[in-house]
Amino acid sequence: MVNAAGKFGPYSQPGPAQPAPVAAVRDAHLLPGRGQTGSELVRSRVALRVRLKSVSPGDRLPDAGVLAEELGISEITVRRALEGMCQDGLLDRRRGRAGGTFVAPDWDAVVALMHDTDTAAALDAFHLLLECGLVAHGTGEVPDGRLDGLRALVDEMDLSDDPARLRELETRFHLDLAEALGGAGIREFAADLLGRQCLVLPAPEPALVRARNRCHADLLTELRRGAMDPAVRAVKAHQHARPDASPT
Ligand SMILES: [Zn+2]
Repeated sequence: MVNAAGKFGPYSQPGPAQPAPVAAVRDAHLLPGRGQTGSELVRSRVALRVRLKSVSPGDRLPDAGVLAEELGISEITVRRALEGMCQDGLLDRRRGRAGGTFVAPDWDAVVALMHDTDTAAALDAFHLLLECGLVAHGTGEVPDGRLDGLRALVDEMDLSDDPARLRELETRFHLDLAEALGGAGIREFAADLLGRQCLVLPAPEPALVRARNRCHADLLTELRRGAMDPAVRAVKAHQHARPDASPT
């Protein structure tokens, strides 16, 4: 008599090795690109502007019509999104001749209340997958000179002591990397991810940006050499980088 369990084996028996799932993106609803509404897009793009210092706390935002055109969504959606951000304390609405919508002076403190570890981990994991894919796809095909701007950012990060400038350059590096390897459309996709990260993840400390910057430098070196495996390893090392122990 054939024992079914013996014939087919216990189901828990280890099968062939499979790649480990990317733990943080097991929950599909956390995946970026799924369900990002027009309103979320406005929030993330305003956050990205603040990180890139194209607006600062206390500054007036462009008019809703201008934002709508830039983002390719309706003006009414932008207005509703800005209203929601005012209610959350991220923006201030001022009436009168000098009125408009302003970035709240205490933007950083308000954002700190929105930090969300699960969403941050999912975005981080997805961004890692995007960069690994871009680097694997682009290694050996990047024209000469395309990486020069990225190299300049790495050099500036090495020299900068200003925390806000370091965070700005760190974010700019990843946007420009996406564009260099994937084109303007992929830059927009990376902007969606990075903008959302600005709202759910504390901004990296200078010591961490410096540690990551060594991975940036390694990545550029390997991309120039056309060495795909080491280039992908540099992308992964970036995610696992820990702050330098040396004084900052
Ligand atoms: Zn980086």
